[in-house]
Amino acid sequence: MTPLEFTIGAAYLVSAILFVVGLHLMRAPSTARRGNLVSAGGMAIAVVSTVVTSLLTAGGSPWAWGALILGLAAGGSFGVIRARVVKMTDIPQLVSLFNAVGGGAAAAVAIAAFVLHVNGTTLGPIVTVPIILDVLIGAVTFSGSLIAAGKLQGVIPGKPISFPGARVVNVAAVIVALGAGTLSIMSPHNVVLLLIVLAAALVLGVLMVLPIGGADAPVIVSLLNALTGLAVAMAGFAIDNQAMIIAGALVGAAGTILTLQMAKAMNRSVGSIVLGGFGTGDSKATAGTADQDAANIRQVTADDVAIELAYAQHVMIVPGYGLAAAQAQHEAADLAKLLIDHGIDVTYAIHPVAGRLPGHMNVLLAEANVPYTQMLQLDEANAAFDSCDIALVIGANDVCNPDARKPGNAVSGMPILNVDHAKSVVVLKRSMNPGYAGIPNPLFNDPKTGMYFADARQALDDILIAVKEYVTA
Ligand code: NDP
Repeated sequence: MTPLEFTIGAAYLVSAILFVVGLHLMRAPSTARRGNLVSAGGMAIAVVSTVVTSLLTAGGSPWAWGALILGLAAGGSFGVIRARVVKMTDIPQLVSLFNAVGGGAAAAVAIAAFVLHVNGTTLGPIVTVPIILDVLIGAVTFSGSLIAAGKLQGVIPGKPISFPGARVVNVAAVIVALGAGTLSIMSPHNVVLLLIVLAAALVLGVLMVLPIGGADAPVIVSLLNALTGLAVAMAGFAIDNQAMIIAGALVGAAGTILTLQMAKAMNRSVGSIVLGGFGTGDSKATAGTADQDAANIRQVTADDVAIELAYAQHVMIVPGYGLAAAQAQHEAADLAKLLIDHGIDVTYAIHPVAGRLPGHMNVLLAEANVPYTQMLQLDEANAAFDSCDIALVIGANDVCNPDARKPGNAVSGMPILNVDHAKSVVVLKRSMNPGYAGIPNPLFNDPKTGMYFADARQALDDILIAVKEYVTA
């Protein structure tokens, strides 16, 4: 082993340790920020080591130097700028885009490795198997994540999209991808076969994500994240890069655990989500209609809400995507503090897929310094709704849609927050528009529900002023 190989190997080991320590720190919200920094440090060491190795092994080729520097500058500046300007509510799209870039880059690395090896004699199964798997998984992740990002951004409708005969196309794409992949391994110098695997995998990624909508979106975004990790690990095997193998395996394992936990929280199985999505085109559409009876609702004012709050004993705040969109977490926390100071018991009901990314509500509320002890998870919150005087729903919709208890709609079977069990309900949102799943919510027509139509931040400001009048009067 040369001194350079030893140094690079040691640097990869240090980065792997930092990845593991970082992931460990991310387990608790209080240390998560530190965990992120530690992992980023590990990634910086891995990137610098890889660039140095590549430059030294590229010798004097100005093309190789130029391509490396250009790639580093373009990718690095895109990542920094996007991460700095992205709005909190747009992070899921950005994560999906990063998944696409990760999967696409891994597939590109595998294709490059294959082409470089094509004229050599060293292309045995130890190299071709990871290359084919990498192209397959990387390309599915690339096209699937782009579709997921488009759905989250709203440029592609979030509801399930399919077409008659989709199942036949899916099965054909799977057969072509696996068939061409197997032939590529048996005849490892055929670039055309590799390109057929690539094309079939790209089609599969699109067809896998298009029919998925409503409550299943978080699970599929998380699954694509796990697949990105697997693709990167395969790319590491293809080019013999230990840092990629370790980082990819960690992302794959962490993403798989998150996917399984999300699926469990949504009362779904990952298999039924993926296969169910694949079958949607040939079966009856399950998405409901967004039309909702707007006439049959009870509108309330800030004063009405303030009186209810001021005379309550237990208030449950139910935050959702609208709280994030309005960036109203500080106003919600201020209102809670005012009520607590007035002797009222205030807790927050956290649904695992509220908002647009796992843990979205925990992150927002932590930003507003809400103590973790006040945040109740789904089961704890549901046990408390029966004795709750008022449930204050702030920009949440699907996660408290009682229709999830009935079959045949886009949120059927999803465990919900039993907001309708509270003695009284107030919903803050801007209109009767549906949530992510695109279906009506009968909670809004419930006689015990008062609707306050306004931007969540403005509504909370108005309610805060009104409550102050009652509690200090
Ligand atoms: P929803 O998307 O169901 O509803 C959000 C509601 O917020 C809308 O009805 C909207 O109504 C309201 N809203 C939007 N902007 C504002 C604002 N500025 N002020 C006040 N209200 C506002 O959110 P939930 O959190 O209830 O549910 C999350 C949904 O997202 C689930 O279907 C989940 O499956 C899906 N999802 C979750 C992911 C995750 O990882 N957490 C990832 C991808 C999807 P209006 O326009 O009338 O104001």
